[in-house]
Amino acid sequence: MVPWKIVLLFAIFGGAFAERLFPTGKVAAPRKYISDDESLLEEDDGGYRLPKETAPSHYTIQLKTSVHQGDIDFQGVVDIHLDVVESTDKIVVNSRGLDIVSATLYSVEDGELVLLEQPLETYDEQTEQLTFQCSSTLDLGSYVLTIDYTGQLQSSGSGFFRRFYRDENNNRHYLATTQFEPTRARMAFPCYDEPTLKATFTVSITHHVTYNAVSNMPQDGPVVVDSEDPEFVTTTFQKTKRMSTYLLAFVVSDFETRQLGSQLIHARPNAIDETEFGLVSGDAILDALGEYTGVSYYDYKPKLAQIAIPDWGSGAMENWGLVTYGEPALLFNPKVSTYRTKTGVATTVAHELAHQWFGNLVTTDWWKYIWLNEGFANLYGYYGAHLAYPDEKYMDLHQIQAVHLALAQDSTETTRPMNWNANTPAEISALFDTIAYYKSGSVLNMFRIIFGDEAWRKGLKTYLLNRQLDVATDLDLYEALQSALSAERSIPTTMTVKEIMESWTNAAGYPVLNVRRNYRTNEVILSQQRFFSDKKVPNEHLWYIPYNYADQKNQQFEVDQVSWLTKRAGRIHVDVKPEQWLVFNRQQFGYYRVNYDARNWEMLTWAMIHYPESIHHYNRAQLIDDAFNLARAEVLDFNVALRLLASLINEEDYLPWAAGDKVLRYLHGKVRGTDLQGRFEYLVHTLIGNVYMKLKVESVDADESLKDKYLKQLISTWACQIGYVDCLEKTHAALKAAVDGSMEVHPDVSTVVYCYGVQHASDNEFLWLYNRMVDSKNEAYRSLVISALGCAQNKDHLNSYLSTAIGSVSEINYLDAERPRVIQAVYSNDRYGVDVLIDYLNTAALADDFVNRLGQSTLNSAISNIASRTNTEEELDRLKGLLETLGSHVPENVRTAALTTVQANFDWRDSLEGVIVADFLEMSGWK
Ligand SMILES: [Zn+2]
Repeated sequence: MVPWKIVLLFAIFGGAFAERLFPTGKVAAPRKYISDDESLLEEDDGGYRLPKETAPSHYTIQLKTSVHQGDIDFQGVVDIHLDVVESTDKIVVNSRGLDIVSATLYSVEDGELVLLEQPLETYDEQTEQLTFQCSSTLDLGSYVLTIDYTGQLQSSGSGFFRRFYRDENNNRHYLATTQFEPTRARMAFPCYDEPTLKATFTVSITHHVTYNAVSNMPQDGPVVVDSEDPEFVTTTFQKTKRMSTYLLAFVVSDFETRQLGSQLIHARPNAIDETEFGLVSGDAILDALGEYTGVSYYDYKPKLAQIAIPDWGSGAMENWGLVTYGEPALLFNPKVSTYRTKTGVATTVAHELAHQWFGNLVTTDWWKYIWLNEGFANLYGYYGAHLAYPDEKYMDLHQIQAVHLALAQDSTETTRPMNWNANTPAEISALFDTIAYYKSGSVLNMFRIIFGDEAWRKGLKTYLLNRQLDVATDLDLYEALQSALSAERSIPTTMTVKEIMESWTNAAGYPVLNVRRNYRTNEVILSQQRFFSDKKVPNEHLWYIPYNYADQKNQQFEVDQVSWLTKRAGRIHVDVKPEQWLVFNRQQFGYYRVNYDARNWEMLTWAMIHYPESIHHYNRAQLIDDAFNLARAEVLDFNVALRLLASLINEEDYLPWAAGDKVLRYLHGKVRGTDLQGRFEYLVHTLIGNVYMKLKVESVDADESLKDKYLKQLISTWACQIGYVDCLEKTHAALKAAVDGSMEVHPDVSTVVYCYGVQHASDNEFLWLYNRMVDSKNEAYRSLVISALGCAQNKDHLNSYLSTAIGSVSEINYLDAERPRVIQAVYSNDRYGVDVLIDYLNTAALADDFVNRLGQSTLNSAISNIASRTNTEEELDRLKGLLETLGSHVPENVRTAALTTVQANFDWRDSLEGVIVADFLEMSGWK
C-alpha cells in the first residue's frame, strides 16, 4: 500500500500524493533499535501469533449490508474450512469488533459435513484472538467452523468501513469498502489473519437492488433476488486462488464502471469521466510489468479492477484484482489536474500493480520482511511507470523522492534495519515506514544495478515462480538471485548474494564512504563508517560497499562496473592527475554518502560552479545533498555545503535544484525574520536569476518536459516568495484573467498562479478562487485551492477563510480532512499567515470550537508549526501570549516542546553553523 505519514513528506516536495491509510488507532513507534545484536532479530511473538495446530484452506463469506441508506450494521456468516494438523481441542482465530451470534463445528467425512458441536468461545482483547474450545480433542483431518456474527461499518477508513460522496444536488450517497492490510480483515470476518496462512475465498454479498458489489474476482453468474426481501439481491464472486486475508477486498456502492480489455475501473458516477488516464496507464503498466517479470498477471487472475474511493486521502491498497485508491491517487481531469497529480497517478498505479507480483503472488512470510512487498513496490512504482512512459524520466524522481528522502531519515541512532520483527497490531502498522518503502526501494535498486538488469530479472522470475501462491522470506530472494548470478559472474566468486545483501538488510542505517586522496602517490584511502546525523555512536558493522568513480579526464558516469569495500578501510591506486577531481558512486547508484578530503571537495565545487555539465546530474544532486547532510552532522565544513549551493547559479536541471531547494528551505527557516533575511533573499535572487529568465511563470509550452515543469514550479515559487515583481505581477494578472473569463489558468502552473496571484487579490478575486474550491468535486484540485487560499496577505480574507473551517457553517461542503488543511494552509506559506492565525486564535472563546471541530491534534500541530516559525523575541512574545490565552487547551508537553523549538531557533544563531551561514551571507556580494 501507499501509506499516510510517509506521503506527508511528499508535501515538502509538493508531491501529488497526500497521504493516508494508517488506521486511526494509536500507532506505536517500533521498538528502539540498539545495535546489530542478532538476538534482537529473533522472534518472540508475545502471544500474538496464532497457534499452529490448525490452518485454514478455504473461506466462504456471506455478508449483508444496507449501506445504501447509510446503515452501519452488517450481518455475516463465515464457513472456515480448516485442517487440524496437530491434535488439539481449540481453534483460535483473529477477530476484532465483531459480535459472535453462534458457532458450529462440522467435520468433513467423505466430502460430507457431519455436525459435531457448538464450541464455547472466549475472546482475548489484547491479542484479538477468538478461541473456540471443543469438548474433546479433534483428530487430524478437515473441519468446517461456521460462525454467525454481526458488525459495524467503521468511520475510520480501515477494516470494513463507510464513506459517502455528494451528487450534483448535494445529496449523500453511501458506500461500504475495505482496507485490511495489515491486520484488519478480522474486522470484517473472523479469520486466521496472518499473511502466511493463505487460503481460497468465496465471497457473496447481499445488498440493495440499486447498488452493486465488486470484489477480487469477477461475479459468478447473475445476481439473485433475496428470498426474504425482494428489495435486496445477492452478488456472488468466483473463488479466488490461494491468497492472504489482508489482500481480500469488496466494495458495495452505486458506482459506474469503464472497461479496457480485462481492466476495469470503477468510480462514482459524477467522476467516471476522470478515470481515463488511470485505466489506460493501468493497462500499459500491467503489460509492461508482466513483460519485465516474465510472469503474466492474467495467469492468476481473470481481471484487474481499480476503484476510486471518495474521502479516503491519497493512499492506495493493492488488493489482488481490486486495487483501491483514494480519489486523488487515481482520478485525473485534464481541465484541472496538475502534472504532479498525473505523476502521482502513474507512480501509485505502478506501485500497486507491482504488488500484484511482489506481495500478492508472493507474499512476505511475516511482516518482519515487509520490504519484500513495499521495497519492490517502491522501486517498481517508478521503474514500472518508466517502462510504460520512458519519456517522463520517472527514475529521476526516484532519486529525489526515494533515495535522498531515505538517506535523510535513515541516519539517526534509532532507525531500524530492513529486517525487523513486530508482533502487536500497532507494532506491525508502524513497520510501514520510510525504511520499508524508500530505503528498501533504494537498496533494491542498488542491487538491480550491480547485478545487471538481465540477471536481476532472471533472479526475480525464479523467485516469483518458486514461491508463487505462497510466502517468502529474504532467504528465498537471495537464493533466487544467486542462482541467476552464478551464470553471469557479476560479483566476485568469493562473495555470495546472501552475505552481500544481508550486510544491508540486517543492519540499521547506512555507511559514509570516506575518500582521502594522496596527491603525491595517486593513491586513495577508502574507509567506511556508519553515518549518524544526530550523534556519534560506536558502530562495528561492516557493509559490503559497491563503489566506482568518475574523474575529470574520463567523464564516464555509466554504472558498468563496481569494486567492493568489505573491510573498515582499504587503499586503491587511481590514474587521476592531482589537479583533477574525482567523484565516487556514479549516478549515486549506491545507497550511501561519500565524503572527500578538502582538496577534492574544492575541485568538485569549482567544477560544479563553472562546468556543471562535466558531472552527471544525479551526482550533482548527490554532491549538494551529501555535503549539506555531512556538514549538518559536523563531519564536513559547512562552508563546503554553502559553496556547493552557490553552484546552482548555473544549474538548469531539476535534480540538483531539488537537492538545493531543501538546503534553501532549511536556511530560510533559520534566518526568516532576522537581520539576515535580506541577505538570504539576495542569495536566492542571485541563484535563481538565470533559470527564471528562461521560464514562463504563467503559461506552459507544448514541449515542456515533466522535469521542466518541476523545475519551473520550484524556481517560480522562490521568485514569488522573495518578491520578484515580475513573478507577482504575472501571477496576479493570470488570476485576474481567469476571474474575468478571458483566459483559464493552465493546471500545470495553477499552484503558483493561485498562491501568489491571490496574495494581493481583490475581494472579488479571492471569493472567485474560494468558490472554485466549493464548486469542485475533484479532491486533488480542492486540496490545491485550499493550500493556495492560505497564501492571501489580506487579514480579512484569511479571517473569513479560517471561519469557514473553524466556524460551524455546516453548509460548506468540506470533507473532514479538509478543515485542518485550511489551518495548515494559513500558517504554511508565510509568516504573514502565522500572525493572522495567532490573532484569530487569541480569542479564548474560540478554542473550544477549534478543538471540537478540528480535533486536538490540529491545534497541537498548529502550535508546533507556529513555534518552528518563531525566530525573534517579538514573535516569541506573540506565541507566549497565545499559549496564555489557550491555557489548558494546549497540553503541557506540546507547550514545552514549542518553547524548546523556539530556543533551538535562537541558539542556532550562536552555533558554529549559524555563524558560518551568517558570514557566508554577509560576504555574498559575489555574483
Ligand atoms: Zn505498497
